[in-house]
Order: sequence, then structure tokens, then C-alpha cells
Amino acid sequence: MHEQTNWAGNHHYDAARFAEPGGIDELAALITGSSAVRVIGSRHSFNDIADTDDLLISTAGLATSIEIDTEARSVTVGGGVRYGDLAVVLQQAGWALHNLASLPHISVAGAVATATHGSGDRNGNLATAVRGIRLLTGAGESVELHRGDPGFEGAVVAIGALGVVVEVTLDIEPAFAVRQRLFGGLGWDVVADRFDEIFASAYSVSLFTLWDEPTVSLAWIKERVDAPSRVGEDFFGAVAEVAPRHMIAGMDVRNVTEQLGVAGPWSERLAHFRSEFTPSAGAEIQSEYLVPRVHAVEAIAAVRALGPRLRDLLQITELRSVAADDLWLSTAYGTDVVGLHFTWVRDTEAVAAALPAIEDVLYPLGARPHWGKVFAGLDAAAMYPRLADFRALADRYDPEGRFRNAFVRRAIG
Ligand SMILES: Cc1cc2nc3c(=O)[nH]c(=O)nc-3n(C[C@H](O)[C@H](O)[C@H](O)COP(=O)(O)OP(=O)(O)OC[C@H]3O[C@@H](n4cnc5c(N)ncnc54)[C@H](O)[C@@H]3O)c2cc1C
Repeated sequence: MHEQTNWAGNHHYDAARFAEPGGIDELAALITGSSAVRVIGSRHSFNDIADTDDLLISTAGLATSIEIDTEARSVTVGGGVRYGDLAVVLQQAGWALHNLASLPHISVAGAVATATHGSGDRNGNLATAVRGIRLLTGAGESVELHRGDPGFEGAVVAIGALGVVVEVTLDIEPAFAVRQRLFGGLGWDVVADRFDEIFASAYSVSLFTLWDEPTVSLAWIKERVDAPSRVGEDFFGAVAEVAPRHMIAGMDVRNVTEQLGVAGPWSERLAHFRSEFTPSAGAEIQSEYLVPRVHAVEAIAAVRALGPRLRDLLQITELRSVAADDLWLSTAYGTDVVGLHFTWVRDTEAVAAALPAIEDVLYPLGARPHWGKVFAGLDAAAMYPRLADFRALADRYDPEGRFRNAFVRRAIG
């Protein structure tokens, strides 16, 4: 497995061995045949969450089945399926997911495991669409958990600590169309004074900034075509863009989904990036902190004060809103949150040196770091009221601690 890296190339997996099982029996034998196992999806995490000393198992060879149940309004996907492929199949059949992350390239199981999210005041993160999961536990046994079952809320955002998810069932809804419009130059004073109105103005709202600039450079609005538009020709004083834009200066606009108000299927608008091109910058590191919504304006002011120090490291920041949920390790557990996301240049040491200053201002406000991105400190017991219940669940499904890698030990003990 040496020399294998994550997608961004900033983390080299330490695992001694690598396997890509083609079926469940082979997977079960691999799990029980090793004392230290982890699973990787599409490798889009930026830290050591997926790493292990011994055996790293890729889900790429596992079933990629996608089965729609129209009566139940659900879709069941295999453990290796990526959102991009799922979105195409659902759209063709007239169905939709409630939301997507910025990129469609990520695996469903891997995204759900880390509470990956898009934006939207009423949109929970992607894990909130999970209705059921089937996993192979640390004992190699197949276990199914459905919404309403005891422990289900702990088993969805599970940071890979319970076993390998081989099947996920998601809620679906009738397909819908979306149009995207971008607006440049949103005043910081407007963001502070009218934060709730701004984020409530469309199905999904993202603000992009470099912090140390006179205005928020871009507001990225996604409106459902089946709902009345609440956005006019300008956006709280920001001016409509008349040509497509990438959120990172200098990057190719072919990589982003269609803008300029052209309506299209949810599957081609809810993500910022197109499946067939590289998302974001490629050479990068990401961090993100999910701050309770009530402290959003305070958090933004605090990070803005750090702006000049962050400027040389930063490619872009994205601000998004996520609805509260009841998943124990979700970064939106129990509270609506606003995500303060940072796409850094790929300089591991410099990014590590910058993070404590951000955490010093955001953690006292109740922020939680994104599980799949880079952070410095983590006091999970203080951040997650159900942490002890999650630990008990992990002990139950993985009593020998095969899946408890260094990251999970730091997080849950
Ligand atoms: C360019 C880019 C853009 C991004 N945009 C967003 C965004 O818009 N919103 C956001 O919230 N995040 C975003 N992320 C972060 C990303 O969504 C998460 O890191 C996500 O976990 C990646 O999924 P993956 O399949 O690549 O997981 P991996 O990195 O492969 O694994 C992540 C975790 O999931 C576990 N896992 C994977 N598969 C399984 C399985 N079958 N069973 C059990 N556990 C499993 C792994 O063990 C590991 O703990 C972005 C990342 C990149 C690189």
C-alpha cells in the first residue's frame, strides 16, 4: 500500500497491505483476518481518518448496484457507489436526492460516514437522507439498521468505526429542476445585518470569500424552479455575474456546473463541480468548522479579523448553512449550523500552523470540525453529547477494535 495517497495527495496511507475485494464473503474474510483494518471510499478525505497500520480495503470492487423502490420512495446502493453515478440513474428515472456536496465524485458510504453536506437552511447533511444501512462488523457479520432502530442515529455518521458499510438506503423525492445564479461584491455589513435573510433566500446559498477583501466576492445561489423565486436582479446589493465563474480565481470555468440562470436537472446543478472534470483546485488541503447558526455572524467577524494572516495560504473560503439533525456524530447534531470552509494551498506545515488561531476563536462558539478535513484540536466529548453512546456502539459492533485506528482513538478514546 506504500505510496498510495488520498485524492489531494496530502496524505500518504501508512497501511502495510491493500485489498480490493470483489464480494461480501471475501470482504468478511479480509476483516476477520486482520487486527487493524480500515476501508476507503473515493479517498476524498484530507486527514488520516481512513488510514490503518495493517490492511486498507477499497470499496471500488464492491457491488455498484442501484435499486429504486418507487413505492417506498427510496434507493438502495452498494458500498462502492458514487453520487455522480447515482444522480444520473435517479434523474433518468424521474427521482432526486434532496442535496449534493460541492462535488459528485465522492462515494455515498464515505460521504455519509463523515457528515458531508451541501448548503441550504432546510437541507440536512447527506447522511440525513439515510434510511437504512447494512454493514459488515468487526466480527465480519452482516447487520442491518433502519431509521427508528435503537442505535441507528449512531451508526450513520460512524467515521468508519463500526465496520464496512456494504449497502445504503436513501430517501428520494420526485426529480426537480434548479437554476444557479452568481452575484459579485456582497457587502460585509449586509452579511452581518441580514445573515438570516441571505441564507433563507434560496434552496441553497453559498458565499465565497478570501476574508481579507472589501466585499464577499461571490454569492452562489441555487433556486428550485418549482418554487417562487425570492431573488431579483441584484442580491442584497451584489451584482449578477454575466459570465460563468469558478470560485477559485484562475481555475477553468468548464469544471463548474452550468450557471447564468439556465434551468437544469438537480443532478447537474446541486453540485458546484461537474463529474467529468477535476473539482476544486486539485492541489489543495481543506478544513471546515461547523458553527451553531446562532453564532454565525460572530464567527465570521472573528475569522475576518484573522484574514490578513490567512491570505497567503488561502485559495478560497465557502460559507454554507446546514439544518440540524439527530445523528450522534453529525457536525449538525442538535443545532442548525453554518460551515466555514477553507480551501488551502497544499502546504501541510503552514496550514497546520494556521489552524490553532482559527480554532481558538471558533471552538469557544461551539464549532465542530468536519471529520474528513484537516483540523488541529478535537475535544469530541465536549462537542458531541452522545459520544459515550457512540463508543458503546463501536464496542458492540467492533469488540476487538479492528476498525479503531489512530484517528478514531483520538476522537472517541
Ligand atoms: C474537492 C473536494 C470537495 C469536497 N466538498 C465537500 C463538500 O461540499 N461538503 C462536505 O461536507 N465535504 C466535502 N468534501 C469532503 C468529502 O466529502 C469527505 O471527506 C468524504 O468523506 C469523502 O468521501 P470518500 O468516499 O472519498 O471517503 P474516504 O476519504 O475514502 O473515507 C472517509 C471515511 O469514510 C469511511 N468509509 C468510506 N467508505 C466506507 C464504507 N463503505 N463503510 C464504512 N466506512 C467507510 C472511511 O473509513 C473514512 O473513515 C470534499 C472533498 C474534496 C476532495
